[in-house]
Amino acid sequence: MTLLPGRKEVIMKELKLTDSVTEVKGIGAKTEKALNKLLIFTVSDLVRHYPRGYDTYEPPVPITSVKEGEKAAIEASIITSPLVKQVRNLKIITIRVKDVSGSLSLSWFNMPFLKNRLMSGYHYIFRGKAARKNGALVIEQPEIYTREEYQRKMNILQPIYPLTEGITNNLLTKAIKTAMGEAEMAEDYLPKAVIKEYKLMNSKNALLELHFPKDKELLAQARRRLVFDEFFQFTLALSYLKESKKSWKNNFVLEDRQGCGDYENSLPYDLTGAQRRAWEEIRKDMKSEHTMNRLVQGDVGSGKTVLAALSLLLTALNGYQGCLMVPTEVLAQQHYETISDAFLEFGIQTVLLTGSMTAAAKRGVYERIKKGEVQIIIGTHALIQEKVEYRKLALVVTDEQHRFGVRQREMLSGKGEHPHVLVMSATPIPRTLAIILYGDLDISLVDELPAGRLPIKNCVVDTGYRSTAYRFIGKQLEEGRQAYVICPMVEESEVIEAENVIEYTEKLKEALPFAHVEYLHGKMKPQEKNDIMERFSKGEIQVLVSTTVVEVGVNVPNATVMMIENAERFGLAQLHQLRGRVGRGKYQSYCILVCGREGKDIRKRLEIMNQSNDGFYIAGEDLKLRGPGDMFGIRQSGEMEFKLGDIYQDAKVLMEANEAAKKLTKEELEAIFLKSPELKLKIVEFKGGTL
Ligand code: ADP
Ligand code: MG
Repeated sequence: MTLLPGRKEVIMKELKLTDSVTEVKGIGAKTEKALNKLLIFTVSDLVRHYPRGYDTYEPPVPITSVKEGEKAAIEASIITSPLVKQVRNLKIITIRVKDVSGSLSLSWFNMPFLKNRLMSGYHYIFRGKAARKNGALVIEQPEIYTREEYQRKMNILQPIYPLTEGITNNLLTKAIKTAMGEAEMAEDYLPKAVIKEYKLMNSKNALLELHFPKDKELLAQARRRLVFDEFFQFTLALSYLKESKKSWKNNFVLEDRQGCGDYENSLPYDLTGAQRRAWEEIRKDMKSEHTMNRLVQGDVGSGKTVLAALSLLLTALNGYQGCLMVPTEVLAQQHYETISDAFLEFGIQTVLLTGSMTAAAKRGVYERIKKGEVQIIIGTHALIQEKVEYRKLALVVTDEQHRFGVRQREMLSGKGEHPHVLVMSATPIPRTLAIILYGDLDISLVDELPAGRLPIKNCVVDTGYRSTAYRFIGKQLEEGRQAYVICPMVEESEVIEAENVIEYTEKLKEALPFAHVEYLHGKMKPQEKNDIMERFSKGEIQVLVSTTVVEVGVNVPNATVMMIENAERFGLAQLHQLRGRVGRGKYQSYCILVCGREGKDIRKRLEIMNQSNDGFYIAGEDLKLRGPGDMFGIRQSGEMEFKLGDIYQDAKVLMEANEAAKKLTKEELEAIFLKSPELKLKIVEFKGGTL
């Protein structure tokens, strides 16, 4: 005979945050597996699985204002007896209801038991999504409420969770509710003084209100508290990182070399004041007692590459290795071409290392790196592969990275003995925020465009303008210039209606029979891509029809026209980056934004591009228009450190949290760490990425 646990015991059992999710009532092995896909392993992961939004019960609307595809509630009387039909293996119940404005059908699948509730003459509130069936609107599978029940629902915000196969919203809601009720929540780690000063909700309530908000105001407060936590912990972690880096002795003290001056003199231009200042700061760092950790922030086209080149050259001339990591192969190839020949003159060997190289080619490069036969290594992610062993790696430069590429940067610098780190970024983050978000780095601002640059001329047009645009491009080609045309798609798609690179190229060849037109897209073989890009760089190809693979960093100063098809499909950040491919030389450049779809909001957004070429201005306007969310593509970059916080929308909280973290006394910090050893570990060992 087995002993069953007493009922009391079961109820009293407390969950620990570190327990496996299977300890939560109702979660078995199968559900566990599915939850794991959502990165939920422990009770703590479960309660930290935040809603992505909330379902609200809106007041009922008249039947005539129900719209196809939208969820609505109606308050109506049943005017027919339920009709039950068997369609294959489905039992469908249909009724008709009416209110003062009109009537409508409702249907349910496989719910025969409803039949008795749905008698003619009964009055309910029905809520569901409307679909069009045989020309008429039908609400399918509506929820059924009495007026009193619905009234109660109207005050509630129902969490909507990110889901995966095998996990329903209902299941998660229940599991989280159970866990929140039974788990022993951690005590609030924040000092009382901080909670008071910044008027924060306590941590337990915040978590509870975020999942199951009593109302919108409490939800806002809960969210603010949790965002505060994210930023607070992040800035603490960054200051730890910075402190620990500050103490790193410079293992690679560099000395000035004549070669850098020679290289500078060999350039066809003079450095701008901003470039000169930044180079001065970089040199000073690398010559100093401590390792360099510096960010160079400058808008597209401000001339950041030459700073990377100078730093790499100085490193190599001092007898060390330096590497340059970039996000795309196209860009790696291009930097390689800019640098390798120029550096040969100084006896410096440069290699390219990218993911698409054959295993044999890679092995060869690894050998040369390991033996120290090469001094400069340029490449993509491949640079951080385990197999790469550097020899005296003294400088790591990452180009065109978001702050959120921090983990890779740290991994790469882990390959040397605290090499100097230089980060190049074109993400237009306001200075006040940059100082916080890049708290572990010193910042050089390149806030000046090279002299003689003519501002890009912009226009927003519809597809009817194309033939005029082609004539204009033709004229530019006659003058010896080149053009880009960007299409959102690679090839024709049945689902998405947008221009595609392959068909467009054919069209354009007909429109510009004398021009050399080619295409470029991400699905091509790397060798083909490089070949096309090289021929475009050399001017052999006159018009390049491309997807956004040219978005980051690509530099062909002779190109003067950037024509973007279906511009409405791109974010402003992306458009700004794309446009940054022209206006990089002395010629007047043009950006033609072709709008494939009309709409007031679309126009308004594109008008911002028309108004200004300034990344910071565009970022600000973008925020005003779109509000929070996918601001400047940072969310999509997949390296977002914050689950809830949005550095733009929550800028104020970010500043407050930063201030609070900076003001902490030593005793307060120790008290925090004592209360939460896990937090201490996270903060002290932070190497970038998600906290
Ligand atoms: P980004 O900051 O976008 O990386 P690049 O470094 O690619 O910009 O520079 C854009 C273009 O400007 C390149 O063709 C580069 O040769 C040129 N350039 C850089 N510095 C100057 C300068 N001081 N004067 C004139 N042209 C410059
Ligand atoms: Mg660049």
